[in-house]
Amino acid sequence: MNPGFLQTPIAYLKGVGPNRAETLQSELGIHTYQDLINLFPNRYIDKTQYYTIGQLQRSNADVQVVGKIIHIKTIEQKKGKRLVAKFKDETGEMELVWFRGQKWIRENLKLNTPYVVFGKCNWFNGIFSMPHPEMELLSEHEKGLKLHMQPVYPSTEKLSNKGITNRVINKLMQQLFLETKGRFSETLSDKLLYELKLMPKSEALYNIHFPKSQELLAKAQFRLKFEELFYIQMQLIAKNMLHKKKIKGFCFDQVGNLFNTFYTSHLPFELTGAQKRVIKEIRYDLGSNAQMNRLLQGDVGSGKTIVAVMTMLLAIDNGFQACLMAPTEILANQHYNGIKDLLKGVGVTCELLTGSVKKSARKPIHEQLQSGGLHILIGTHAVLEDKVQFKNLGLAIIDEQHRFGVAQRSKLWHKNQIPPHILVMTATPIPRTLAMSLYGDLDISVIDELPPGRKPIKTVHRYDANRLKVFQFLRDEIKKGRQVYIVYPLIKESEALDYKDLMDGYESIARDFPQPQFQISIVHGQMKPADKDHEMERFVKGETQIMVATTVIEVGVNVPNASVMIVESAERFGLSQLHQLRGRVGRGADQSFCILMTSHKLSSEAKTRLETMVRTNDGFEIAEVDLKLRGPGDIMGTQQSGTLNLKIADIVKDNDILKTARYYALQLLKDDPSLEKPENLVVRHAYAQLVKYKNIWNYIS
Ligand code: ADP
Ligand code: MG
Repeated sequence: MNPGFLQTPIAYLKGVGPNRAETLQSELGIHTYQDLINLFPNRYIDKTQYYTIGQLQRSNADVQVVGKIIHIKTIEQKKGKRLVAKFKDETGEMELVWFRGQKWIRENLKLNTPYVVFGKCNWFNGIFSMPHPEMELLSEHEKGLKLHMQPVYPSTEKLSNKGITNRVINKLMQQLFLETKGRFSETLSDKLLYELKLMPKSEALYNIHFPKSQELLAKAQFRLKFEELFYIQMQLIAKNMLHKKKIKGFCFDQVGNLFNTFYTSHLPFELTGAQKRVIKEIRYDLGSNAQMNRLLQGDVGSGKTIVAVMTMLLAIDNGFQACLMAPTEILANQHYNGIKDLLKGVGVTCELLTGSVKKSARKPIHEQLQSGGLHILIGTHAVLEDKVQFKNLGLAIIDEQHRFGVAQRSKLWHKNQIPPHILVMTATPIPRTLAMSLYGDLDISVIDELPPGRKPIKTVHRYDANRLKVFQFLRDEIKKGRQVYIVYPLIKESEALDYKDLMDGYESIARDFPQPQFQISIVHGQMKPADKDHEMERFVKGETQIMVATTVIEVGVNVPNASVMIVESAERFGLSQLHQLRGRVGRGADQSFCILMTSHKLSSEAKTRLETMVRTNDGFEIAEVDLKLRGPGDIMGTQQSGTLNLKIADIVKDNDILKTARYYALQLLKDDPSLEKPENLVVRHAYAQLVKYKNIWNYIS
């Protein structure tokens, strides 16, 4: 089939016409024959299977049952009548229920005669009941013998109002197969088809729309899912390869004195295996001729800072400057102090630039940056101001990626003619599955090992009713010299209420933990930044033992002496937030605790979140659960909204297929980067078509 033919506007398909074409376009985005072919059913009604009543499950699947009506009666309710029939087979009894059209049904139904009923079952008062079943006499049913599975296509209210029912779409699909003779160009190479035992394209399309059996349907689905994910990976990997080829970067080919001196005589601890591996990966990037664009993922406390420091030393060794940006002043300060300590005696200059650095202090910083006298600049957004000009910025490190937008990153990029190498560090683990599909064009390094000797944080879930015990525990910890966080939720929609909760909480804590024995800090969003910083400082310095806060402390703050994290109304927090909060403790040598406080009323999703937190400290495992609970769209937020507009594959459920697809795409492009080999012509052609018509990946910017 000439692929151009599939670009025929849908209005030309027999049975469509201009009116229906418009509705199909606006409701389902179907413009062409091709689009219709790629409208895949959401589910299938399997009328090839019969269930006995004894086999019924409490699922929401449609089922088909053969039996007899043995009894029928009308039941009076407050809100009208309902008609209930007892339906029986040799394994049990169920009910058929009607709320409408009762008279007609009552007059026409035959007692003690075999029927085939079809519909969804509810489990109610200890018995299955099927409201408004489709019904057919068994004798009639056997004559017609519909043995196929029926596809159910996506629908909207407008579609059904305009008479474009599932049946109509089914008809159109048949017409389309008639006009195309069901022959569609193959889009995967023989090698792939053979190695993965994939169903050929035409057969797969046929079976996705007109499946003859569950088995053929499964094969068709696998083939089409693989294809979809394969071409997305092809695009991402190709983009990455192109970037490496095209975007020239500075080549840091020396591992010089600073790096070596630091490594041999200033490193305060032995690096973990994961840190060593990641530094190697970064060194490899910096030494190639391409600009590095790397995402460094590492759970809270996994030791990303030292990796950043050693990467900066590499830049300086090669005659370049480096900068590190943090999302808040507190964090920038902490980095500045920590890094200055680490680099004491190494012979590197380092300055801090944030919003609160005075004008008079800025001037010398600006000058030193331009003269090249300053090696490292640490700061907040202030670093991005136009006044800040480097002599030769070779490396930019961004801590806590999600707080910086893409626009800001590109601003950094333009501080030089040749873009600096970029390392983005994040403690928000992105599930592997998502990372593969969204950031397939970035290089990713993972620190998946914590420094030795850390005691895993103990996490428990407690109900509000146990508050007194929890407070006693706090008192004991504080007596031992520890500090504690108590965090309240702050959700935008209910800000006023949350604020009240926080203040009520604070007052009751102040009563239970009276001065002068106990000192309490409080930090929340309605305070002035300077006041917030002041309160934070008091806690950091150990002047206060309790920090009552909203989630403003979520990111990055490091107080090693804090050993208890209490999260109030924990059921209202998302998993990644809870994990971030918990990461505020467990930074010192002592055993740390995280206590999740909730009321008794919990949704099942909230229960899953709490159980997950109690079960594991592994950020990646938590991220995977989060992905399953919320779906990919939510996780990436508006930042990437609409990104995963997949037609048939599911990023979570089809994880294995995704891995396979990525593997094969990588192999193929490694072996034949410009798809020149004859055996890859099919792929090359399909790839070109997809890009041209933007069929499956119009979501990639
Ligand atoms: P994060 O990845 O959250 O930014 P940090 O870089 O702040 O983590 O490191 C957390 C703590 O662990 C710091 O106190 C740091 O000094 C310490 N640390 C990092 N790497 C190691 C290591 N290999 N061995 C022992 N301690 C380490
Ligand atoms: Mg950090």
